[in-house]
Amino acid sequence: MGKIVTGKTKLYAVIGDPISHSLSPQIHNRLFAELKTDRMYVSLRIPSEELKSSVELLRNNFHGFNVTIPHKEAIIPLLDELDERAKIYGAVNTVKIEKGRLKGYNTDGYGFIKSLDSLDLKYHNKKALVLGAGGAARVIAYELVLKGCIVTIANRSEGKALCIKGDIERATGIEINVISLSDVQDKYDFIVNTTPVGMSAMADRMPVGEHVLNKAELVYDLIYNPSPTKLLKMAERYNCRTEDGFSMLFYQAVKAQEIWLENSIKKSIISSVLSAMMVGD
Ligand code: NAP
Repeated sequence: MGKIVTGKTKLYAVIGDPISHSLSPQIHNRLFAELKTDRMYVSLRIPSEELKSSVELLRNNFHGFNVTIPHKEAIIPLLDELDERAKIYGAVNTVKIEKGRLKGYNTDGYGFIKSLDSLDLKYHNKKALVLGAGGAARVIAYELVLKGCIVTIANRSEGKALCIKGDIERATGIEINVISLSDVQDKYDFIVNTTPVGMSAMADRMPVGEHVLNKAELVYDLIYNPSPTKLLKMAERYNCRTEDGFSMLFYQAVKAQEIWLENSIKKSIISSVLSAMMVGD
């Protein structure tokens, strides 16, 4: 029999629009089940014009929620408090609700770095190329700068990339480079795709030409559906190590639960849920 939900079951959600494709309910409900805790996680489609009123419903009935496209920035003025990382990223993906107060966090950076743990990379002075300059690029560029990489952002339009450059340089005092997506060369150790090129209608495309992969040690694509993307398939041909976006998604979810539960989750539970999801159990 499935889980019995009662009036006492603690409720959690992911809010976004669209949302039906989200893997977050599977990850969170599996973790809740392993932790044997009376909690349940659902996905809620909330159009932008209903965000404000929906937050009041969440405040009164839920214990926490995740936030995805298009609300990661729009949610900020509706919250009571912001964690440091969420302030730096200017975006929130996790909200904890306590006594009616909403505190915003961002666990994407943690998820990205944690997903690289098993690869045992050396970061210091490595040349890292971040493709794209949206919300995810900001998080990844910041985390790679903190790890000691020399970061270049390549975007099709310059404005957003320059804005990220300015913010990260002000926050860290470390210089980063900005180039156009069409000018990228093959001098990077790490390449991270944060553009949607490689998914849906763009599944047969790569964000950069294959020559860029020539000297890369690691090619990381934030896209997890489809996986591998055309970029990752090509990177394998160039003998690069590759990583898709699933483990980042998984570890940002683990961190969100740790925030909600105010406790760390045992490694054995994390590994068992991760392996079950990777084999599509
Ligand atoms: P976003 O804020 O909309 O930014 C998207 C970026 O991609 C923008 O810089 C945009 O360039 C660029 N772009 C869009 N279409 C393009 C095209 N056809 N050719 C070249 N560049 C293009 O989105 P986001 O929140 O950063 O998310 C980006 C991707 O990361 C999405 O696919 C999302 O699903 C994925 N993601 C995955 C995880 C994970 O846990 N695995 C977490 C967060 C995000 P312009 O600036 O020129 O518009």
